[in-house]
Amino acid sequence: MPTESPTAPPGEPTPRLIIPEALLPRDGRFGSGPSKVRPAQVAALAAVGESLLGTSHRQAPVRSLVRRVRDGVAELLGAPPGYEVLLGNGGATSFWDAATFSLVRSRAHHAVHGEFSGKFYAGTNAAPFLEESELVRAAPGTLAVPAPSSSSDVIAWAHNETSTGVLAPVRRPAGGTADALTLVDATSIAGAAPVDLREADVYYFAPQKVFASDGGLWLAVVSPAALARIEEIAGSGRWIPDSLALSAAVTNSRLDQTLNTPALATLVLLAEQLDWFGDNGGLDWAAARSRRSTDHVYAWADAREWATPFVAESAHRSPVVATIDIDEDVSAPAIIAALRDNGVLDVFPYRKLGRNQLRIGAFPAVDPADVEALTECIDYVVERLA
Ligand SMILES: *Cc1c(COP(=O)(O)O)cnc(C)c1O
Repeated sequence: MPTESPTAPPGEPTPRLIIPEALLPRDGRFGSGPSKVRPAQVAALAAVGESLLGTSHRQAPVRSLVRRVRDGVAELLGAPPGYEVLLGNGGATSFWDAATFSLVRSRAHHAVHGEFSGKFYAGTNAAPFLEESELVRAAPGTLAVPAPSSSSDVIAWAHNETSTGVLAPVRRPAGGTADALTLVDATSIAGAAPVDLREADVYYFAPQKVFASDGGLWLAVVSPAALARIEEIAGSGRWIPDSLALSAAVTNSRLDQTLNTPALATLVLLAEQLDWFGDNGGLDWAAARSRRSTDHVYAWADAREWATPFVAESAHRSPVVATIDIDEDVSAPAIIAALRDNGVLDVFPYRKLGRNQLRIGAFPAVDPADVEALTECIDYVVERLA
């Protein structure tokens, strides 16, 4: 029975639009964070349910899991000699606070092209022990290029701005002090795009996006210069809460531990995803898989009269989070609601952007064939909404 008739009998809810089974993706999770988690990861978690889970994070089995994660990250991202992988609790948001306390000497410069890069700016700017932060802010959907003055000792930007779908190059900008550190928020792209880590002193992320794990953890690949800065500030007399002291994260990470108890499930899911990438060809493979998905979405949007990629400059379009503006006469919230009714989830835009937009997360866990199915579903819904 077709149920898309727009007229419902009085007193009954409007019938739902049913998308034919054959069009639906096999897995309907397209969020921009957290990512779809693969069933094989969940099975691996269940497999350690009575051995690893519920055991001490100070003992060998969990520490070797942390070791597997640290080594896996270093290998996947091609950490240069002398770089170390640190981790701690609290996700990327906590890392901003830790960086504010432990990495900024006196002034930070921020290139802001969306909500996430803006939050880190707000944090350093509000810190009473730092100078006013410098800011370059781009209009939503465009790229902000850092332009630090010579008084900045930290230069910060996001590799992928998840709120707008803008991709930024990871390249040391001119300016800042001679020893200015580059801090790159790679939360939603680390592991799904090529990167030369010599261009970043701190390349940090949380594992619930590309690594299809749960939230609550941060990881950072840090350069020798960043390690030296952490030590310098730790010895400077600045008051730093323990949980935000990167010096404590350095000590603990070197022992394959965290300062306080980590979520073991998060570590297991992350380790599984690292292995999956490694088994299939590493960073190039993972990056190509996401790229294939988002290239499809952008080409699909270009071919629709009622859809336009939000990021006009194609070189700045994210390979993992595709933002697509929808013409005024088609309601994006109605598309999103119809998809949700059919188990196709989380393609809403970033809430504060306030646009008539779809935002499609195509992290490596997402099957590119499912992304193709998704765009067919959107076509199906839009034809029937009109
Ligand atoms: C998701 C996200 C964050 C926030 O991560 P949490 O782990 O939830 O704190 C920060 N930056 C970027 C670019 C993100 O995509």
